[in-house]
Amino acid sequence: MESGTPAVIAANLAMVRQRIAAAAQRVGRTASQITLVAVSKTQPFEAIETAYAAGQRDFGENRVEELWPKVEQAKQQGLADIRWHLIGTIQSRKSANAIGPFALIHSVDRLKLANRLNCDAIAAGTVMEVLLEVNVSGEESKHGFTPQELLAAVPECMAYSGVRVAGLMTMAPFVAEAEETRPVFRRLRELRERVTLEHPGVVWPELSMGMTNDFEVAVEEGATLVRVGSAIFGARQY
Ligand SMILES: *Cc1c(COP(=O)(O)O)cnc(C)c1O
Repeated sequence: MESGTPAVIAANLAMVRQRIAAAAQRVGRTASQITLVAVSKTQPFEAIETAYAAGQRDFGENRVEELWPKVEQAKQQGLADIRWHLIGTIQSRKSANAIGPFALIHSVDRLKLANRLNCDAIAAGTVMEVLLEVNVSGEESKHGFTPQELLAAVPECMAYSGVRVAGLMTMAPFVAEAEETRPVFRRLRELRERVTLEHPGVVWPELSMGMTNDFEVAVEEGATLVRVGSAIFGARQY
């Protein structure tokens, strides 16, 4: 069967869900503690419909320009209960485009952007739920707060009224063996623990970590959201 056909997408989804459940079970967690975000970037809308028909409700897009038309199309097709996740870099000058009917923005990667989104959300009369993206591995090519920047930014972020921080997100380096990503995921969890200890008012339940290559390790390390694209939809359609 060709990748991307309805039967393949449904089977892939079932397999990914099963692997999440098995990884959760290995560490005494349950699958219900983990939200699978199906990353539909570059995929045609039909792929989203297919996954939806197979019970998938959380979808992730990395470009706000691609997200909006898909949100509109979903509305027109009556797929009203999709939870949309924005997972990619947002340019500061386009921050207002990221204010919308989205369940969660995973990729708030710098304080300037957080401030802008807060102002944009207040102006729009809404509150956006976000995660702060941390560059745990320190790779130069990666976006995100350094752990030090994050610790320093907490008081400012807690004072927002247009943005509610729900947790942290990270991208692991691309490595040959998924197991090599474990220290990165563990450090994100430990960073969250440290913030919670130092700031008793902070409640950050969400950890968005793990992609096609490493989501099982991430689940073992405490991920509450995994962002999986190619394991569900096949190769990206550029
Ligand atoms: C594309 C993307 C993913 C999914 O990647 P796969 O390797 O296809 O699972 C997850 N997170 C972000 C931020 C992405 O851009």
